[in-house]
Amino acid sequence: MNGRIPPVEVRRDLRREVGFGCPIEGCRSPFLEYHHFNPPWHEGNVHNIEGMIALCPSHHSMADRGTWTKEELRTLKTEGEKSPIKGKLHWNLKNSVLNAGKNLIIAKNQISLRVLGNEIFALKENAKGQLTLNAQLWNSSGELIIRIIDNDILLAPNKEVNDFICNVSGNKIRIESRKNETYLEFMIKREKTKKLEGISFKEYGFLENEVPCINLKAKVINNAFDLVIQEKQIVLDFRRVGYDKTNISKFVVGPSGSLNIMFENQEFFHMG
Ligand SMILES: [Zn+2]
Repeated sequence: MNGRIPPVEVRRDLRREVGFGCPIEGCRSPFLEYHHFNPPWHEGNVHNIEGMIALCPSHHSMADRGTWTKEELRTLKTEGEKSPIKGKLHWNLKNSVLNAGKNLIIAKNQISLRVLGNEIFALKENAKGQLTLNAQLWNSSGELIIRIIDNDILLAPNKEVNDFICNVSGNKIRIESRKNETYLEFMIKREKTKKLEGISFKEYGFLENEVPCINLKAKVINNAFDLVIQEKQIVLDFRRVGYDKTNISKFVVGPSGSLNIMFENQEFFHMG
């Protein structure tokens, strides 16, 4: 017997069906859970996709208490609210660590990850002095499919999006373009500072013994480069514009430093 958590494909199909946001009028939260209404979970213990719907946690709990009939929920699956999703992250990422392919970047103030002038990821200070998440991803034809600006998630649901996962605590976000040709994924986790070897946190004025650690994975393709951020390295391919392919791994960059690849005064890569 499988557990209560639906299989990966069922969850993805339920997210797609509602355009990656809660379908209740006026909601559109991207933080989704999966409600079993026909049969209810305790009656059937089955993941029957026709009898399930993706809802945000507060509308899920209303659905559990019978706010909507089975018929209404069935209608909401296809005819619910379809406006652009609205989501807000609540992480303050000041004094955090970005892990991009085993390269660790200390984020005390701001950081930016750019390839040939395209900013893929950044932490920027907002008016309250908090460091917020900023990111963007294009599909392989160069159309923008998601932007995160100062922790605000802006996604216009369209057929170019293969999947958009945004778990309820906001600590995992993954966006994939059609056929998974490009993707961007963040996992944010509080990590014990003593586990992050090679970083002298005291020297940087970090007082807590835990730091938010942002684990970034990405695949970005455009007409000049490929950038793939894997588990253990960053792979950069500039061969389409007559330069090399290179791997970057195991660099530690302090709060005022950066890792750059420059050629004839042009910035190819910047992280820090
Ligand atoms: Zn909702």
